[in-house]
Amino acid sequence: MSSRRKFIRRSILSSFAVAVTGLKSCIGANSANTEETTKKISVKSVPVVISTWNNQKANEKAWSIIEKGGRAIDAVEEGVNLVEADPDDQSVGYGGRPDRDGNVTLDACIMDESGNAGSVCFLQKIKHPVSVARKVMEDTPHVILAGAGALKFALSVGFKEEDLLTPRSRKEWEEWKMKSDYKPLINIENHDTIGMLALDQAGNISGACTTSGLGYKMQGRVGDSPIIGAGLYIDNEIGGATATGMGEAVLKSVGSFLVVELMRQGKTPNDACKEAVMRIIRKQEYKDLQVGYLAINKAGETGSFSIHPGFVYAVNKQTKTQIEDASSYL
Ligand code: ASP
Repeated sequence: MSSRRKFIRRSILSSFAVAVTGLKSCIGANSANTEETTKKISVKSVPVVISTWNNQKANEKAWSIIEKGGRAIDAVEEGVNLVEADPDDQSVGYGGRPDRDGNVTLDACIMDESGNAGSVCFLQKIKHPVSVARKVMEDTPHVILAGAGALKFALSVGFKEEDLLTPRSRKEWEEWKMKSDYKPLINIENHDTIGMLALDQAGNISGACTTSGLGYKMQGRVGDSPIIGAGLYIDNEIGGATATGMGEAVLKSVGSFLVVELMRQGKTPNDACKEAVMRIIRKQEYKDLQVGYLAINKAGETGSFSIHPGFVYAVNKQTKTQIEDASSYL
C-alpha cells in the first residue's frame, strides 16, 4: 500500500475517547450542589491543519509534517515560522509594522496536547517569537515572559538579535507619522496574525499564534495573540481555537477559551465560533472592528466565523491546501 494510502487509512481508523462534560443539578439545588458529569464518547479523528488568512505555504509546511506522522506541536511551530520570517507579511515577525514609536514588538504563544503553554509578549529583535514561546513552555517553570526578560531569555537559549524593521515598514511608518492618525482598520492589510491549529495522526491537537500586533499601537500594548485563552486555546479532549482581529475585543471575551468551552457543551466548531462572535456583538460597538475565530474539534471538523466579511483561512484535510471564506455576521 502506498504511504499516502496508509496515511489516509490510519487517519480514518484512529478512534479516541473524548470526555464530554455536562452539568447535572437537582431541583432546588444551589450551585454548590451542581455536579459535573463526564461521559466518554468515541470519536474518529481525521488529521487537519487550519490557519488564519491566506497562509498557504505555512499550511503546506505544517501538513508535510503531519503527513509524515509528525507531531502537531512541531507542525504548528514550523508552519508559523515561515510567516514570521517573511518580510512581506507586515503583521507578523520580521517586517511587521512597528508601534507608533517605531519599535517592532512581537507577541506569540504555543500550546500542546498536554495543556502545556508558553508565551512571549512585547519581544523585540527576535525573528521567531513562537519558537521562544516554545522554549518558555519547555525549559522554564513559567508560561509568559515579557519585554526585556523575554529577550534576555531568548538570547540565553541561542536566538540571535536582528533588526526587524524592514525599509518598507519603516517608510510606511514615517508616512503615518505625518498625521499620526490611529484607526486600526478592519481589513486584511492590518490583520494578518497567523493562528494555526493542527490535529496529528496520533489524534493530538496543538496550536500556535504569532503577530506584531496592531500597526502603530501604543508602545507596550499587548494584544490577544500571546494570551492563553484569548488568542489561542487547546484542550486535547475537546478541540482548539484561535483568533485574529481586534485583540482588545478578543481579550475582553476570552474568545478562544470560550469557543473550546462551547464545543465541550456540544456545539459544532462553526456554531461555537459564531456564538463567540455574538458575545462581542451583544456587548460593544462592532461596526468598525473585525474579529475572526477558527476552531477544530477532536474529530477534525473545522469551523470559522467573523464579524465582517473578508476573513479567509487556509485548511488542509488532504495534501492540497484550500483557501476558504469564513461566514460572517455582517
Ligand atoms: N489580534 C492581533 C492583535 O490584536 C491583531 C491581528 O489579528 O491582526 O494584536
